[in-house]
Amino acid sequence: RHNETAAPGSAYLEARNLVVRFGEYTALRDVSFEVAAGERLCLLGPSGCGKTTSLRVIAGFIQPDSGGVRIDGRDMEGVPPEGRNIGILFQNYALFPHLTIYDNVAFGLRMRNIAESEIRKRVTEALELVRLPKAGGKRPSMLSGGEQQRIAFARAVVIKPSLLLLDEPFSNLDARLRQEMRGELLDLLQQLRIATVMVTHDQEEAMAIADRIAVMQGGAIEQVGGPTDIYERPRSLFVARFVGESNLFAGQAAGGMVEIPGLGRLERRGLQDGPVQALIRPEKIRVLPANGASGSPDHERARATIERVQYLGHRTEYRLKLGPQSITAWRLNETALPLMPGDAVALEWNRADLLVFREIANR
Ligand code: ATP
Repeated sequence: RHNETAAPGSAYLEARNLVVRFGEYTALRDVSFEVAAGERLCLLGPSGCGKTTSLRVIAGFIQPDSGGVRIDGRDMEGVPPEGRNIGILFQNYALFPHLTIYDNVAFGLRMRNIAESEIRKRVTEALELVRLPKAGGKRPSMLSGGEQQRIAFARAVVIKPSLLLLDEPFSNLDARLRQEMRGELLDLLQQLRIATVMVTHDQEEAMAIADRIAVMQGGAIEQVGGPTDIYERPRSLFVARFVGESNLFAGQAAGGMVEIPGLGRLERRGLQDGPVQALIRPEKIRVLPANGASGSPDHERARATIERVQYLGHRTEYRLKLGPQSITAWRLNETALPLMPGDAVALEWNRADLLVFREIANR
């Protein structure tokens, strides 16, 4: 385990043993996590796993059935949302269409009865922060999707929150703009250094922005760790499959060895005997000429036949027949081989990259 929790005492936000029920349905079953000052945590998981519910509890819109939230050491029980000094950018953020951009950004400050001179200063700063200093007099409909998203961000941070909650902040944007905006958002968050919890179902978005990621499933956290922990050292098949592409193999463990059709017998000590699922990511498999495998003891090897070759610009994708199944391997094009369907190849991977789990996949 790496970076599981922030160091004791340094947590800015603590969510402790949260349980939330909606009637018969349990949306959160004992969810705990911490966010250090200035840290960015992403809650990542499929639709319905409880990400938004977790944010709503932190914001104070939902009272947990048990468990609690502390912000900066202060218990939030009984503290209403407006008493928590949290900046919120929720899914499908709507700017008020009838208000100017200036008035949209000023809204939260006016709610807090702040003097107009101070409001003017803060709104100006917030618009400069999102690089739209001249947008104040416009209406939302005059701005592009990306600009509206930046205004929504300005509106969330203008109150100088001590904690920022972002729920699918890019959900309104098309794929290309999403990618552009996530770079911008990272720049902004690094500049502001506000503790942030961001919800997303997009693993790339989570990895691009988070210091740490909490992967959720069925109302519980499966694993918390840095992006490389989650990607390289997933603790469960669910986490492994959720955060990247993978080739899956069914096999049997017995006496410290794993038998996988097409891969042969591999040594994996410490696994309980019984059915296993093995997983390797496409970029971890080296595709070599048939006589090209090294003899390194850290590597495992197999023989395969090329089924399909697809050139994708930055990489080439090989579909390979390996024993009873087909798998995918990628190579960056600077190292790609001139291979054709039907060619025999050698495959090689680092032993540590073939992850073996003692559980059955839900396909
Ligand atoms: P999505 O990415 O789709 O928003 P999520 O992970 O954010 O998913 P939540 O919105 O937290 O999921 O919802 C978790 C579960 O709780 C869902 O099955 C949802 O239908 C249910 N749920 C959420 N809010 C309520 C509510 N107010 N009443 C009843 N059920 C609810």
